[in-house]
Amino acid sequence: MTGSSHMGPLSGMPSPHRIAGNIALDFANTISWRGTAREADQLATADALRHWLRVSGLRATDAATAPDPDPTLAAAHALRAAITRIGSAIANGASPPDDALNDLRDAAAAALSRAQLGGMPLRPQFDTAEQALGSIAWSALDLFSSDEVARIKECPFSDCHWLFVDRSKNGSRRWCDMATCGNRAKKQAMAAHDNSAAG
Ligand SMILES: [Zn+2]
Repeated sequence: MTGSSHMGPLSGMPSPHRIAGNIALDFANTISWRGTAREADQLATADALRHWLRVSGLRATDAATAPDPDPTLAAAHALRAAITRIGSAIANGASPPDDALNDLRDAAAAALSRAQLGGMPLRPQFDTAEQALGSIAWSALDLFSSDEVARIKECPFSDCHWLFVDRSKNGSRRWCDMATCGNRAKKQAMAAHDNSAAG
């Protein structure tokens, strides 16, 4: 196994922007500026999906050069939409939509039925790209069924929507990322202050 032979054409791709504190929410956050003119999808192609899974440490065994069937990309997008809709509903105090819950359940169940159990402690081995999606689905289920569900938040900027787990002691984290939206908020607050001071 050579670790670096896969790095060629994709080495210029961005590293995952992992701010969520949970792999399933990081996966949901692979769309930036959703619904705006500058919307960017980090998982737009099968290559991009493989890259994301690999640099996120989710795939161990199948060759990175083996083309995954397109259904994997479609399944990734469906799973991402389900996690996003459930996480967003929870963050906003709403009931998660039934169809999104069913999609998440189906993804987790299908992946588990195809995975090997191995290791000690026993764990399902989600080794292919398709199964890596199962790993994400199970991470989402773990999160959504844990006490941390109360700490799931959505970035309040209406053009951001990124989800994260607020692990600050007093639950005071507001922004997805201080370097982007937090900084924006700071600038807006300063501008508002300047305006009111001038007026
Ligand atoms: Zn944000």
